[in-house]
Amino acid sequence: MKALGQPGFRTEQMWVALYQHFRRSPQEITTFPKSLREKLDEIFEYQALTALRAIESEDGRTVKTLFKLRDGELIEAVLMYYEDRRTLCISSQSGCGLGCTFCATGQMGLRRNLSSGEIIAQVLYYARLLAEQDELVTNVVLMGMGEPFHNYENVMEALDRLNNPDAFGMGARRFTISTVGLAPQIRRFADEDTQYNLAVSLHTVDNELRSEMMPINRKYPVEEVLAACRYYIRKTNRRITFEVALISGVNDSLADAEALAHKLENMLCHVNLIPLNPTEDFGKQGSDAENVRRFCDILDGHHIPCTVRLRRGIEIKAGCGQLAAEHESSS
Ligand code: SAH
Ligand code: SF4
Repeated sequence: MKALGQPGFRTEQMWVALYQHFRRSPQEITTFPKSLREKLDEIFEYQALTALRAIESEDGRTVKTLFKLRDGELIEAVLMYYEDRRTLCISSQSGCGLGCTFCATGQMGLRRNLSSGEIIAQVLYYARLLAEQDELVTNVVLMGMGEPFHNYENVMEALDRLNNPDAFGMGARRFTISTVGLAPQIRRFADEDTQYNLAVSLHTVDNELRSEMMPINRKYPVEEVLAACRYYIRKTNRRITFEVALISGVNDSLADAEALAHKLENMLCHVNLIPLNPTEDFGKQGSDAENVRRFCDILDGHHIPCTVRLRRGIEIKAGCGQLAAEHESSS
């Protein structure tokens, strides 16, 4: 604004227009003089992503959108309506290089990191949609495509902008970063002074099985991941969420539950159990409801708080990376 010879308050107006009124481009910022709008249009790119396809679950409570980035790469983001929350699940990368066998994004490989702008644009897209219904985004989870800690700086920059009261202004505790378990980054994150929540995808504490499901376990085995998590808890005094996708006959036995409970004893944590969303290349099924319940009861018995995450949007392929994978194979 300074370079354009504009008064300082224009910057503030621009942030309010983009992050609070969800304007898509300077053309929509009617508080700006026409000449300035045109100038800004020439200098900057605004449309970080274009919605290609949006699909809704039958009950209308889950909406998934496939976006195309300017260079043609694809990402997805999902909006989930809960009783009192409007939770967005957004992507941090197009694809993912970590190759977890059960994950549709992993099956795609890594295309590229998203810029902070592309991460923010997913939130603004849904914020705009919700605003039309007089609703607000209440929570954002980085559980879409990609490994957020492999794109650390851009993810932090995006969350800081979304958190900044002069920009989007959503409370830090409403964000959750989910990591596959990159131990050094968990420690780095612990050392930062943020209030963002951390979720760690554990799935099993059996190293052999975990390495089979998640190749990164060969580099950072269970003990190292849990040591980094203990460091995080000590440093921040914050609770960690462990995610466990239950796969029928693979990691869902009572012995698996006992082993998990044993490893997590006395940790400030919470376990999220979710039956696996089946994907095409991984011929296994999610555990049935009864097994999930028994698994949860065992954790409860060891005083480890545990919730069963409802399966949302299975019929619309709302599982991580499933829509983009389908789009790629059909085009
Ligand atoms: N890369 C990060 C975040 C994105 S994946 C991570 O791995 O944590 C978000 C969550 O979805 C992770 O817990 C991941 O293990 C889980 N997930 C991936 N594929 C899944 C599937 N087919 N069914 C259920 N959960 C899945
Ligand atoms: Fe990547 Fe997470 Fe999928 Fe593993 S589960 S391949 S880390 S997105």
